[in-house]
Amino acid sequence: MYDVIIIGGGPGGSTAGSALAMAGKKVLILERERFPRFHVGESLIPFGNDELKAIGVWDKMMAGDFMPKLGAEFVLGNSKAGIKILFGRYLKPGYAQTFQVERAKFDNLLLEHSVSLGCEVWQETKVKSANVTNDGVTVQCEKDGATHELSARWILDASGRDAFLGKQMQLPKTDLGLPKKFATFAHFRGVKRNEAPAHGHITVVRLDFGWFWMIPLDAEKTSIGLVQTLDHFKATGMKPEECFEHVVATTTELQKRMAGAERVSDYAFAGDYTYRHLQNAGPRWLLIGDAAGFIDPIFSSGVMLAVKSGFLAAKQVVAADEAGQPLGAAAQARYTKEVGKMCEVFLNMIKMFYNNHAFEVFMTPQPPRGMEWAVNNLVAGNTNLGWRLKLQVWLFYRVCWIQRRFAIVPKLDLSDNPASATPQA
Ligand SMILES: Cc1cc2nc3c(=O)[nH]c(=O)nc-3n(C[C@H](O)[C@H](O)[C@H](O)COP(=O)(O)OP(=O)(O)OC[C@H]3O[C@@H](n4cnc5c(N)ncnc54)[C@H](O)[C@@H]3O)c2cc1C
Repeated sequence: MYDVIIIGGGPGGSTAGSALAMAGKKVLILERERFPRFHVGESLIPFGNDELKAIGVWDKMMAGDFMPKLGAEFVLGNSKAGIKILFGRYLKPGYAQTFQVERAKFDNLLLEHSVSLGCEVWQETKVKSANVTNDGVTVQCEKDGATHELSARWILDASGRDAFLGKQMQLPKTDLGLPKKFATFAHFRGVKRNEAPAHGHITVVRLDFGWFWMIPLDAEKTSIGLVQTLDHFKATGMKPEECFEHVVATTTELQKRMAGAERVSDYAFAGDYTYRHLQNAGPRWLLIGDAAGFIDPIFSSGVMLAVKSGFLAAKQVVAADEAGQPLGAAAQARYTKEVGKMCEVFLNMIKMFYNNHAFEVFMTPQPPRGMEWAVNNLVAGNTNLGWRLKLQVWLFYRVCWIQRRFAIVPKLDLSDNPASATPQA
Protein backbone atom coordinates (compact mmCIF):
# COMPACT_ATOMS: atom_id res chain seq x y z
CA MET A 1 0.00 0.00 0.00
CA TYR A 2 1.50 3.31 -1.11
CA ASP A 3 0.37 6.80 -0.19
CA VAL A 4 0.61 7.94 -3.80
CA ILE A 5 1.05 6.22 -7.16
CA ILE A 6 2.18 8.45 -10.02
CA ILE A 7 1.75 7.42 -13.66
CA GLY A 8 4.71 8.73 -15.67
CA GLY A 9 8.22 9.81 -14.67
CA GLY A 10 8.55 12.91 -16.89
CA PRO A 11 9.12 16.37 -15.34
CA GLY A 12 5.56 16.55 -13.98
CA GLY A 13 5.63 13.10 -12.35
CA SER A 14 9.10 13.40 -10.88
CA THR A 15 8.48 16.91 -9.51
CA ALA A 16 5.27 15.75 -7.81
CA GLY A 17 7.06 12.63 -6.53
CA SER A 18 9.95 14.66 -5.13
CA ALA A 19 7.66 17.15 -3.38
CA LEU A 20 5.59 14.31 -1.88
CA ALA A 21 8.65 12.36 -0.73
CA MET A 22 9.95 15.53 0.93
CA ALA A 23 6.65 15.67 2.82
CA GLY A 24 7.22 12.10 4.04
CA LYS A 25 4.83 10.31 1.67
CA LYS A 26 5.44 6.80 0.38
CA VAL A 27 5.49 7.30 -3.39
CA LEU A 28 5.67 4.91 -6.33
CA ILE A 29 6.34 6.27 -9.82
CA LEU A 30 5.43 3.94 -12.69
CA GLU A 31 7.21 4.77 -15.93
CA ARG A 32 6.66 2.94 -19.22
CA GLU A 33 10.10 3.68 -20.72
CA ARG A 34 13.66 3.02 -19.58
CA PHE A 35 15.37 6.37 -18.87
CA PRO A 36 17.30 8.13 -20.29
CA ARG A 37 14.94 8.33 -23.29
CA PHE A 38 14.42 10.96 -26.00
CA HIS A 39 11.60 13.46 -25.49
CA VAL A 40 10.61 16.63 -27.33
CA GLY A 41 10.38 19.90 -25.36
CA GLU A 42 13.92 21.11 -24.76
CA SER A 43 13.58 24.80 -23.97
CA LEU A 44 12.71 25.77 -20.38
CA ILE A 45 11.35 29.13 -19.19
CA PRO A 46 12.44 30.82 -15.97
CA PHE A 47 9.14 30.96 -14.11
CA GLY A 48 9.48 27.19 -13.59
CA ASN A 49 12.72 27.73 -11.66
CA ASP A 50 11.07 28.19 -8.24
CA GLU A 51 9.62 24.67 -8.10
CA LEU A 52 12.87 23.12 -9.35
CA LYS A 53 14.62 24.96 -6.52
CA ALA A 54 11.97 23.94 -3.99
CA ILE A 55 12.51 20.23 -4.69
CA GLY A 56 16.28 20.76 -4.47
CA VAL A 57 17.23 19.80 -8.03
CA TRP A 58 18.30 23.26 -9.25
CA ASP A 59 21.88 22.95 -7.93
CA LYS A 60 22.22 19.64 -9.79
CA MET A 61 21.04 21.39 -12.95
CA MET A 62 23.57 24.18 -12.41
CA ALA A 63 26.31 21.57 -11.97
CA GLY A 64 25.20 19.68 -15.09
CA ASP A 65 26.33 20.69 -18.56
CA PHE A 66 23.04 22.20 -19.72
CA MET A 67 23.10 25.25 -21.98
CA PRO A 68 22.19 28.42 -20.02
CA LYS A 69 19.22 30.24 -21.57
CA LEU A 70 19.10 33.98 -20.89
CA GLY A 71 16.31 34.93 -23.26
CA ALA A 72 14.50 34.35 -26.52
CA GLU A 73 14.73 35.62 -30.09
CA PHE A 74 11.92 36.00 -32.60
CA VAL A 75 12.76 36.59 -36.24
CA LEU A 76 10.91 36.54 -39.56
CA GLY A 77 11.70 33.83 -42.09
CA ASN A 78 12.50 36.51 -44.67
CA SER A 79 14.99 38.13 -42.22
CA LYS A 80 13.22 41.49 -42.44
CA ALA A 81 12.55 41.89 -38.71
CA GLY A 82 13.63 40.39 -35.43
CA ILE A 83 13.62 41.03 -31.68
CA LYS A 84 15.70 39.65 -28.84
CA ILE A 85 14.35 39.42 -25.30
CA LEU A 86 16.80 39.28 -22.39
CA PHE A 87 15.04 38.02 -19.25
CA GLY A 88 17.46 39.85 -16.93
CA ARG A 89 16.47 43.24 -18.36
CA TYR A 90 13.27 43.30 -16.34
CA LEU A 91 13.24 40.24 -14.09
CA LYS A 92 14.80 39.51 -10.70
CA PRO A 93 18.07 37.51 -10.80
CA GLY A 94 16.18 34.31 -9.91
CA TYR A 95 14.34 34.54 -13.24
CA ALA A 96 17.14 35.94 -15.38
CA GLN A 97 18.30 32.50 -16.44
CA THR A 98 17.06 29.03 -17.13
CA PHE A 99 18.35 26.21 -19.35
CA GLN A 100 17.99 24.51 -22.70
CA VAL A 101 17.96 20.80 -21.91
CA GLU A 102 18.36 17.57 -23.75
CA ARG A 103 15.34 15.90 -22.28
CA ALA A 104 16.92 12.45 -22.06
CA LYS A 105 19.45 13.91 -19.61
CA PHE A 106 17.12 16.36 -17.86
CA ASP A 107 14.25 13.93 -17.26
CA ASN A 108 16.70 11.31 -16.02
CA LEU A 109 18.24 13.82 -13.60
CA LEU A 110 14.80 14.72 -12.23
CA LEU A 111 13.74 11.09 -11.90
CA GLU A 112 16.99 10.10 -10.14
CA HIS A 113 16.53 13.09 -7.87
CA SER A 114 13.10 11.83 -6.85
CA VAL A 115 14.69 8.46 -6.00
CA SER A 116 17.34 10.23 -3.89
CA LEU A 117 14.47 11.77 -1.89
CA GLY A 118 12.83 8.39 -1.28
CA CYS A 119 10.52 7.72 -4.23
CA GLU A 120 10.32 4.18 -5.53
CA VAL A 121 10.48 4.10 -9.34
CA TRP A 122 9.52 1.17 -11.55
CA GLN A 123 10.75 1.75 -15.09
CA GLU A 124 9.63 -0.22 -18.16
CA THR A 125 6.31 -0.54 -16.38
CA LYS A 126 3.15 0.25 -18.25
CA VAL A 127 0.01 1.16 -16.35
CA LYS A 128 -2.87 -0.76 -17.93
CA SER A 129 -5.82 0.26 -15.76
CA ALA A 130 -6.72 2.18 -12.63
CA ASN A 131 -9.79 1.65 -10.49
CA VAL A 132 -10.34 4.90 -8.59
CA THR A 133 -12.83 5.16 -5.70
CA ASN A 134 -13.38 7.75 -2.98
CA ASP A 135 -11.08 5.77 -0.66
CA GLY A 136 -8.16 5.17 -2.97
CA VAL A 137 -6.99 3.45 -6.12
CA THR A 138 -6.01 0.02 -7.41
CA VAL A 139 -3.64 0.08 -10.36
CA GLN A 140 -2.84 -2.75 -12.73
CA CYS A 141 0.49 -2.52 -14.48
CA GLU A 142 2.74 -4.71 -16.59
CA LYS A 143 6.41 -5.17 -15.82
CA ASP A 144 8.74 -7.83 -17.27
CA GLY A 145 5.76 -9.63 -18.79
CA ALA A 146 4.02 -9.98 -15.42
CA THR A 147 0.89 -8.15 -14.27
CA HIS A 148 1.03 -6.43 -10.88
CA GLU A 149 -1.82 -5.04 -8.83
CA LEU A 150 -0.90 -2.13 -6.57
CA SER A 151 -2.89 0.05 -4.19
CA ALA A 152 -2.55 3.60 -2.96
CA ARG A 153 -4.67 6.29 -1.35
CA TRP A 154 -3.95 8.73 -4.21
CA ILE A 155 -3.21 8.57 -7.90
CA LEU A 156 -1.56 11.35 -9.90
CA ASP A 157 -1.65 11.13 -13.67
CA ALA A 158 1.54 12.53 -15.21
CA SER A 159 1.39 10.32 -18.30
CA GLY A 160 1.90 13.24 -20.69
CA ARG A 161 -0.12 13.48 -23.88
CA ASP A 162 -1.17 9.84 -23.40
CA ALA A 163 -3.54 11.35 -20.81
CA PHE A 164 -4.10 7.94 -19.27
CA LEU A 165 -6.71 8.78 -16.63
CA GLY A 166 -8.49 11.32 -18.81
CA LYS A 167 -9.03 8.64 -21.43
CA GLN A 168 -9.94 5.91 -18.98
CA MET A 169 -12.40 8.11 -17.09
CA GLN A 170 -13.60 9.69 -20.36
CA LEU A 171 -13.16 13.16 -18.90
CA PRO A 172 -14.59 15.92 -21.08
CA LYS A 173 -12.00 18.06 -22.86
CA THR A 174 -11.79 21.01 -25.22
CA ASP A 175 -9.45 21.67 -28.16
CA LEU A 176 -9.28 25.36 -27.12
CA GLY A 177 -10.33 26.43 -30.60
CA LEU A 178 -6.85 26.15 -32.12
CA PRO A 179 -6.20 24.33 -35.40
CA LYS A 180 -4.39 20.99 -35.27
CA LYS A 181 -0.64 21.25 -35.69
CA PHE A 182 2.08 18.99 -36.99
CA ALA A 183 5.76 19.16 -35.98
CA THR A 184 8.86 17.66 -37.62
CA PHE A 185 12.15 17.92 -35.73
CA ALA A 186 15.74 16.68 -35.44
CA HIS A 187 19.13 17.56 -33.95
CA PHE A 188 21.78 19.29 -36.08
CA ARG A 189 25.47 20.17 -35.82
CA GLY A 190 27.11 23.25 -37.31
CA VAL A 191 24.15 25.66 -37.00
CA LYS A 192 25.26 29.31 -36.77
CA ARG A 193 24.84 30.76 -33.26
CA ASN A 194 24.06 34.24 -31.95
CA GLU A 195 26.72 36.31 -30.22
CA ALA A 196 26.72 36.29 -26.38
CA PRO A 197 24.61 36.93 -24.37
CA ALA A 198 22.09 35.57 -26.92
CA HIS A 199 24.08 32.41 -27.75
CA GLY A 200 21.81 30.25 -25.60
CA HIS A 201 18.53 31.92 -26.65
CA ILE A 202 15.82 29.91 -28.33
CA THR A 203 15.28 31.33 -31.82
CA VAL A 204 11.75 31.23 -33.17
CA VAL A 205 11.61 31.79 -36.92
CA ARG A 206 8.13 32.95 -37.90
CA LEU A 207 6.76 31.87 -41.29
CA ASP A 208 3.37 32.85 -42.58
CA PHE A 209 2.12 29.26 -42.22
CA GLY A 210 3.96 28.24 -39.06
CA TRP A 211 7.29 28.55 -37.34
CA PHE A 212 10.65 26.95 -36.66
CA TRP A 213 12.37 26.51 -33.31
CA MET A 214 16.17 26.53 -32.98
CA ILE A 215 17.34 25.45 -29.53
CA PRO A 216 21.08 25.37 -28.81
CA LEU A 217 21.57 22.26 -26.66
CA ASP A 218 25.33 22.34 -26.16
CA ALA A 219 28.40 23.83 -27.85
CA GLU A 220 27.68 21.79 -30.99
CA LYS A 221 24.16 20.45 -31.08
CA THR A 222 21.02 22.43 -31.99
CA SER A 223 17.48 21.14 -31.91
CA ILE A 224 15.47 22.34 -34.89
CA GLY A 225 11.78 21.82 -35.49
CA LEU A 226 9.14 22.95 -37.95
CA VAL A 227 5.59 23.46 -36.68
CA GLN A 228 2.76 24.01 -39.15
CA THR A 229 -0.95 23.40 -39.24
CA LEU A 230 -1.88 19.84 -40.06
CA ASP A 231 -3.98 21.17 -42.95
CA HIS A 232 -1.03 23.04 -44.42
CA PHE A 233 1.22 20.02 -44.08
CA LYS A 234 -1.33 17.76 -45.77
CA ALA A 235 -1.76 20.28 -48.61
CA THR A 236 1.97 20.05 -49.44
CA GLY A 237 1.53 16.35 -50.31
CA MET A 238 5.09 15.85 -49.09
CA LYS A 239 6.60 13.47 -46.57
CA PRO A 240 7.37 15.33 -43.30
CA GLU A 241 11.17 15.28 -43.79
CA GLU A 242 10.82 16.40 -47.44
CA CYS A 243 8.65 19.30 -46.35
CA PHE A 244 11.12 20.23 -43.56
CA GLU A 245 14.04 20.25 -45.99
CA HIS A 246 12.09 22.19 -48.59
CA VAL A 247 11.19 24.94 -46.12
CA VAL A 248 14.78 25.13 -44.83
CA ALA A 249 16.10 25.40 -48.40
CA THR A 250 13.71 28.21 -49.31
CA THR A 251 13.66 30.32 -46.14
CA THR A 252 16.22 33.13 -46.09
CA GLU A 253 16.76 33.16 -42.32
CA LEU A 254 17.14 29.39 -42.08
CA GLN A 255 19.60 29.36 -44.97
CA LYS A 256 21.73 31.96 -43.18
CA ARG A 257 21.87 29.85 -40.05
CA MET A 258 21.82 26.33 -41.43
CA ALA A 259 24.03 26.48 -44.53
CA GLY A 260 26.48 23.60 -44.06
CA ALA A 261 24.66 22.21 -40.99
CA GLU A 262 24.56 18.44 -40.63
CA ARG A 263 21.68 16.42 -39.19
CA VAL A 264 22.84 14.15 -36.36
CA SER A 265 19.59 12.42 -35.38
CA ASP A 266 16.64 10.84 -37.13
CA TYR A 267 13.64 13.04 -37.75
CA ALA A 268 10.85 12.76 -35.20
CA PHE A 269 7.24 13.87 -35.49
CA ALA A 270 4.40 15.03 -33.25
CA GLY A 271 0.92 15.93 -34.30
CA ASP A 272 -2.62 16.74 -33.44
CA TYR A 273 -2.08 18.61 -30.21
CA THR A 274 -3.82 21.20 -27.99
CA TYR A 275 -6.52 20.09 -25.55
CA ARG A 276 -7.51 20.76 -21.99
CA HIS A 277 -9.47 18.57 -19.62
CA LEU A 278 -12.27 20.55 -18.04
CA GLN A 279 -11.78 18.80 -14.70
CA ASN A 280 -8.24 18.25 -13.41
CA ALA A 281 -8.95 16.68 -10.02
CA GLY A 282 -11.33 14.34 -8.20
CA PRO A 283 -11.55 13.03 -4.63
CA ARG A 284 -8.47 10.78 -4.98
CA TRP A 285 -6.93 11.80 -8.32
CA LEU A 286 -5.18 14.77 -9.91
CA LEU A 287 -3.94 15.41 -13.45
CA ILE A 288 -0.50 16.96 -13.96
CA GLY A 289 1.24 18.61 -16.92
CA ASP A 290 0.31 17.37 -20.37
CA ALA A 291 -2.07 14.83 -18.84
CA ALA A 292 -4.17 17.80 -17.69
CA GLY A 293 -3.85 19.65 -20.98
CA PHE A 294 -1.44 20.49 -23.74
CA ILE A 295 -1.06 23.83 -25.46
CA ASP A 296 0.89 24.79 -28.57
CA PRO A 297 4.61 24.82 -27.64
CA ILE A 298 5.46 28.16 -29.26
CA PHE A 299 6.28 29.80 -25.89
CA SER A 300 8.05 26.74 -24.42
CA SER A 301 5.50 26.47 -21.63
CA GLY A 302 5.08 22.67 -21.36
CA VAL A 303 7.79 21.71 -18.89
CA MET A 304 7.08 24.74 -16.71
CA LEU A 305 3.39 23.85 -16.56
CA ALA A 306 4.26 20.22 -15.79
CA VAL A 307 6.63 21.16 -12.98
CA LYS A 308 4.28 23.78 -11.51
CA SER A 309 1.18 21.61 -11.65
CA GLY A 310 3.16 18.64 -10.26
CA PHE A 311 4.26 20.74 -7.30
CA LEU A 312 0.76 22.12 -6.80
CA ALA A 313 -0.82 18.65 -6.99
CA ALA A 314 1.59 17.41 -4.32
CA LYS A 315 0.51 20.29 -2.07
CA GLN A 316 -3.17 19.32 -2.52
CA VAL A 317 -2.43 15.74 -1.46
CA VAL A 318 -0.44 16.83 1.59
CA ALA A 319 -3.14 19.30 2.67
CA ALA A 320 -5.96 16.76 2.21
CA ASP A 321 -4.00 14.12 4.14
CA GLU A 322 -3.48 16.58 6.97
CA ALA A 323 -7.23 17.05 7.10
CA GLY A 324 -7.62 13.26 6.91
CA GLN A 325 -10.00 13.51 3.94
CA PRO A 326 -10.17 13.05 0.19
CA LEU A 327 -9.91 16.19 -1.91
CA GLY A 328 -13.14 18.15 -1.42
CA ALA A 329 -15.15 19.66 -4.28
CA ALA A 330 -13.88 23.18 -3.53
CA ALA A 331 -10.23 22.07 -3.53
CA GLN A 332 -10.78 20.10 -6.77
CA ALA A 333 -12.25 23.20 -8.41
CA ARG A 334 -9.45 25.42 -7.08
CA TYR A 335 -6.77 23.11 -8.49
CA THR A 336 -8.54 22.93 -11.89
CA LYS A 337 -8.89 26.72 -11.91
CA GLU A 338 -5.26 27.32 -10.96
CA VAL A 339 -3.96 25.00 -13.70
CA GLY A 340 -6.42 26.54 -16.18
CA LYS A 341 -5.33 30.07 -15.23
CA MET A 342 -1.70 29.28 -15.99
CA CYS A 343 -2.68 27.81 -19.39
CA GLU A 344 -4.85 30.82 -20.16
CA VAL A 345 -1.90 33.23 -19.94
CA PHE A 346 -0.06 31.21 -22.59
CA LEU A 347 -3.16 30.67 -24.66
CA ASN A 348 -3.58 34.44 -25.10
CA MET A 349 0.05 34.68 -26.17
CA ILE A 350 -0.38 31.80 -28.63
CA LYS A 351 -3.41 33.44 -30.24
CA MET A 352 -1.44 36.70 -30.46
CA PHE A 353 1.48 34.90 -32.13
CA TYR A 354 -0.66 33.37 -34.87
CA ASN A 355 -2.47 36.63 -35.65
CA ASN A 356 -0.32 38.63 -38.09
CA HIS A 357 -1.58 42.03 -36.85
CA ALA A 358 -1.09 41.23 -33.18
CA PHE A 359 2.30 39.70 -33.95
CA GLU A 360 3.35 43.05 -35.45
CA VAL A 361 2.86 44.63 -32.03
CA PHE A 362 4.85 41.85 -30.33
CA MET A 363 7.66 42.46 -32.82
CA THR A 364 7.78 46.26 -32.32
CA PRO A 365 11.51 47.06 -32.37
CA GLN A 366 11.38 49.81 -29.72
CA PRO A 367 8.25 49.26 -27.67
CA PRO A 368 7.23 51.59 -24.82
CA ARG A 369 8.90 50.51 -21.58
CA GLY A 370 5.70 49.27 -19.95
CA MET A 371 4.88 47.08 -22.93
CA GLU A 372 8.41 45.70 -23.08
CA TRP A 373 8.16 44.86 -19.38
CA ALA A 374 4.87 43.03 -19.96
CA VAL A 375 6.18 41.07 -22.96
CA ASN A 376 9.38 40.19 -21.12
CA ASN A 377 7.37 38.73 -18.21
CA LEU A 378 5.02 36.83 -20.51
CA VAL A 379 7.82 35.27 -22.55
CA ALA A 380 9.58 34.25 -19.32
CA GLY A 381 6.37 32.48 -18.26
CA ASN A 382 5.08 34.73 -15.49
CA THR A 383 1.50 33.57 -14.91
CA ASN A 384 1.07 35.21 -11.53
CA LEU A 385 0.59 38.81 -12.57
CA GLY A 386 0.24 41.59 -10.01
CA TRP A 387 -2.16 44.45 -10.82
CA ARG A 388 0.45 46.75 -12.45
CA LEU A 389 1.66 43.98 -14.69
CA LYS A 390 -1.91 42.88 -15.41
CA LEU A 391 -2.65 46.42 -16.56
CA GLN A 392 0.39 46.49 -18.86
CA VAL A 393 -0.51 43.07 -20.27
CA TRP A 394 -4.06 44.31 -20.86
CA LEU A 395 -2.69 47.41 -22.64
CA PHE A 396 -0.45 45.21 -24.79
CA TYR A 397 -3.40 43.09 -25.94
CA ARG A 398 -5.46 46.24 -26.44
CA VAL A 399 -2.81 47.60 -28.81
CA CYS A 400 -2.79 44.21 -30.57
CA TRP A 401 -6.55 44.48 -31.00
CA ILE A 402 -6.38 48.04 -32.36
CA GLN A 403 -3.60 47.02 -34.78
CA ARG A 404 -6.09 44.69 -36.47
CA ARG A 405 -7.99 47.78 -37.62
CA PHE A 406 -5.44 50.64 -37.72
CA ALA A 407 -1.69 50.21 -38.14
CA ILE A 408 -0.27 51.93 -35.07
CA VAL A 409 3.06 50.04 -35.19
CA PRO A 410 4.99 49.30 -38.42
CA LYS A 411 3.42 46.59 -40.60
CA LEU A 412 5.44 43.41 -41.05
CA ASP A 413 6.15 41.97 -44.44
CA LEU A 414 5.86 38.20 -44.27
CA SER A 415 4.89 37.86 -47.88
CA ASP A 416 8.09 37.61 -49.84
CA ASN A 417 9.50 34.71 -47.89
CA PRO A 418 10.03 32.24 -50.74
CA ALA A 419 8.81 29.41 -48.52
CA SER A 420 5.58 31.17 -47.73
CA ALA A 421 3.79 29.66 -50.71
CA THR A 422 2.56 26.15 -50.11
CA PRO A 423 5.47 23.96 -51.16
CA GLN A 424 4.78 21.70 -54.12
CA ALA A 425 5.83 18.07 -54.12
C1 LIG B 1 6.50 19.68 -30.96
C2 LIG B 1 6.62 19.97 -29.49
C3 LIG B 1 7.57 20.89 -29.03
C4 LIG B 1 7.66 21.19 -27.66
N1 LIG B 1 8.59 22.11 -27.22
C5 LIG B 1 8.64 22.44 -25.90
C6 LIG B 1 9.62 23.34 -25.41
O1 LIG B 1 10.47 23.86 -26.14
N2 LIG B 1 9.62 23.62 -24.07
C7 LIG B 1 8.72 23.05 -23.21
O2 LIG B 1 8.74 23.35 -22.02
N3 LIG B 1 7.82 22.16 -23.65
C8 LIG B 1 7.76 21.83 -24.97
N4 LIG B 1 6.87 20.90 -25.39
C9 LIG B 1 5.95 20.31 -24.40
C10 LIG B 1 6.65 19.29 -23.52
O3 LIG B 1 7.15 18.26 -24.33
C11 LIG B 1 5.65 18.74 -22.52
O4 LIG B 1 4.77 19.74 -22.11
C12 LIG B 1 6.31 18.13 -21.28
O5 LIG B 1 7.14 17.08 -21.63
C13 LIG B 1 5.23 17.66 -20.29
O6 LIG B 1 5.79 16.94 -19.24
P1 LIG B 1 4.94 15.80 -18.53
O7 LIG B 1 5.75 15.35 -17.36
O8 LIG B 1 3.56 16.28 -18.31
O9 LIG B 1 4.81 14.63 -19.61
P2 LIG B 1 5.95 13.82 -20.38
O10 LIG B 1 7.22 14.55 -20.34
O11 LIG B 1 5.39 13.47 -21.70
O12 LIG B 1 6.12 12.51 -19.50
C14 LIG B 1 5.11 11.54 -19.46
C15 LIG B 1 5.72 10.19 -19.12
O13 LIG B 1 4.67 9.28 -18.86
C16 LIG B 1 5.03 8.01 -19.38
N5 LIG B 1 3.79 7.24 -19.59
C17 LIG B 1 2.80 7.50 -20.49
N6 LIG B 1 1.82 6.58 -20.40
C18 LIG B 1 2.21 5.70 -19.42
C19 LIG B 1 1.61 4.53 -18.87
N7 LIG B 1 0.44 4.05 -19.30
N8 LIG B 1 2.29 3.89 -17.89
C20 LIG B 1 3.47 4.35 -17.43
N9 LIG B 1 4.08 5.47 -17.93
C21 LIG B 1 3.45 6.13 -18.91
C22 LIG B 1 5.79 8.35 -20.66
O14 LIG B 1 6.65 7.29 -21.01
C23 LIG B 1 6.53 9.62 -20.25
O15 LIG B 1 7.86 9.36 -19.84
C24 LIG B 1 6.78 20.55 -26.74
C25 LIG B 1 5.87 19.62 -27.20
C26 LIG B 1 5.76 19.32 -28.56
C27 LIG B 1 4.75 18.32 -29.01
